[in-house]
Amino acid sequence: MVVSLNHVQHVLEEIPSPYQTALTQYDRAVRHLSMDENLVEYMRWPRREFTVNFPVRRDDGRIEMFTGYRVHHSTVMGPSKGGIRYSMNVTLDEVRALAMWMTWKCALVNLPYGGAKGGVLVDPKSLSMREKEGLTRRYAAELVPLISPHADIPAPDMGTGPQEMAWIMDTYSMTVGYSVPAIVTGKPIIIGGSQGRTEATGRGVIICMVEALKRAGMVDESKIRVVIQGFGNVGLHAADYAHELGFKVVAVSDVNGGIYNEHGLDIPEVRRHYTAVGTLEGFPGAERVTNAELLCLPCEVLVPAAMEGQITENNAPHLRTKLIVEGANGPTTTEADDIIVDRGIHLVPDILANAGGVTVSYFEWVQGLQEFFWDKEEVFRQLQRILINSYDATAHMAEHHGVDMRTAAQMTAISRVGEALKTRGFYP
Ligand code: NAD
Repeated sequence: MVVSLNHVQHVLEEIPSPYQTALTQYDRAVRHLSMDENLVEYMRWPRREFTVNFPVRRDDGRIEMFTGYRVHHSTVMGPSKGGIRYSMNVTLDEVRALAMWMTWKCALVNLPYGGAKGGVLVDPKSLSMREKEGLTRRYAAELVPLISPHADIPAPDMGTGPQEMAWIMDTYSMTVGYSVPAIVTGKPIIIGGSQGRTEATGRGVIICMVEALKRAGMVDESKIRVVIQGFGNVGLHAADYAHELGFKVVAVSDVNGGIYNEHGLDIPEVRRHYTAVGTLEGFPGAERVTNAELLCLPCEVLVPAAMEGQITENNAPHLRTKLIVEGANGPTTTEADDIIVDRGIHLVPDILANAGGVTVSYFEWVQGLQEFFWDKEEVFRQLQRILINSYDATAHMAEHHGVDMRTAAQMTAISRVGEALKTRGFYP
């Protein structure tokens, strides 16, 4: 474990504290709201934080210890909801920030949920399938006292997906003695997952992008160049949907770097290449770019869809985009935010732009509880309706108070949670 702790220290030195970013955003937003200071103080704090150290047997027989977290930021609006991340960047600080953002995100899109997040400090690529199942089941078993369909509902995030959700659902079900599909969202469809969940976050990013472009009077898709950082669940489906709608996706990347073609990439072909080869490298007719270069390519829309802390005070002055749509959580630091506002770059913030995932997770949960399932058209129709309404509410708040979209989105969400808290009162 010494190696892991060193790694955390290294990461902490390089990436600005996500929780500090979350708190600064919060403080900025509440300044514009005339809200009781007791409410303001209460909502700054995570409600519960859970840390667990647990063993996993490796394939060679060794026992290795791992550290996991689960933070419930708020349960004011309903059960807490949030993903589980497997990554070597996971820290309690990061999970705290992500849980807080989940509270605002759920409130912004009017879902009856509070915010939570979980994470395990592990490189999922370093585990065999059997080891990953062992790690997931043991972590899930440790979470049993905290989670339930009416208390806290996990979902996938970086490094996890439908298979991990299936193992968590099975572990929880074995513990209580009957099947509980509504304990997680993002499950495979065969065990109660929702149509459209896999594509939901990326699709939602593009729904928000289209709305922003329409409002800016940029309506000719074929002239809009889109750059996407990250080719995982969010980035890939955002690229797919943008391509399907006729936008020119000129660059995409993963952790190892990106590919660029100023005339547009054939995204279905890029997907085929990526699936076959496991890397973007070698894709014909495109030039290689580093992730740092990709962020500063000339384009109309930049979609950071990889991880937090990517747009900083160092690269914000050099961005060559008109619009940023945040697919990832927290990809822009507070310092970069100021530069972006000063430079007149329009930004659709994460809690709005990537809320498609939690929205369809909500549909999945509702379908699971009712045991009545919808078709994909219905899922996408309801997703579009909710995101456009939320975009409208945010844009209205921004205009009314003369603030940027991030502050407006936070203000909309915080005032809703504050109002609910005031109505419920402080226990006891
Ligand atoms: P993922 O693990 O499926 O994909 C992450 C992608 O980012 C991969 O292509 C990876 O190679 C790339 N990447 C990782 N580190 C990188 C780096 N340092 N530089 C450039 N690229 C890097 O994860 P995901 O589910 O697509 O999530 C991406 C982001 O979106 C995260 O911030 C996550 O919290 C957020 N998010 C995800 C969902 C969802 O439904 N999956 C919902 C809301 C928000």
